[in-house]
Amino acid sequence: MIRVDDDKCTGCGTFIDVCPADIIRLVDQKAVIGEGCLYCGACEDVCEATSYYH
Ligand code: SF4
Repeated sequence: MIRVDDDKCTGCGTFIDVCPADIIRLVDQKAVIGEGCLYCGACEDVCEATSYYH
């Protein structure tokens, strides 16, 4: 699954535009990933706060 590190998230919203599944939202200026992730890795490529969680 994809994990967002809230301590690193600045709420910039950059990866909202790159997500092909359109499942990323900002809630209280923190990124929240919803259901339906395609595991494409696009968000991880553009955001240091995002990583695959194994
Ligand atoms: S891995 Fe791809 S589909 Fe999943 S949240 Fe990131 S950008 Fe969206």
